[in-house]
Amino acid sequence: MKVYDRMPLATSYTIVPVEVDDAKCIADKGCTVCVDVCPLDVLRISEITQKAYMAYDECWYCMPCQTDCPTDAVTVNIPYLLK
Ligand code: SF4
Ligand code: SF4
Repeated sequence: MKVYDRMPLATSYTIVPVEVDDAKCIADKGCTVCVDVCPLDVLRISEITQKAYMAYDECWYCMPCQTDCPTDAVTVNIPYLLK
């Protein structure tokens, strides 16, 4: 057995700091609040799913995307050391 046979596939699971619950997100009804408030411009509305997602793994953990989302769809996972 080669070593890489036992390694997890990095491409199979991606963790970004900001997660959006597609079931709650109403971007498909026109909401762009989180995209508009993010100072780093890292959130996007997916043309495929019509839901918001983190397009670039950059974050200041400033929180307006989570606090301003009208449906509580956004979760900002703040690293333990920053809490
Ligand atoms: S603010 Fe909330 S509901 Fe609106 S696009 Fe962002 S995640 Fe979706
Ligand atoms: S926490 Fe701030 S920087 Fe990070 S995605 Fe939300 S609005 Fe953008």
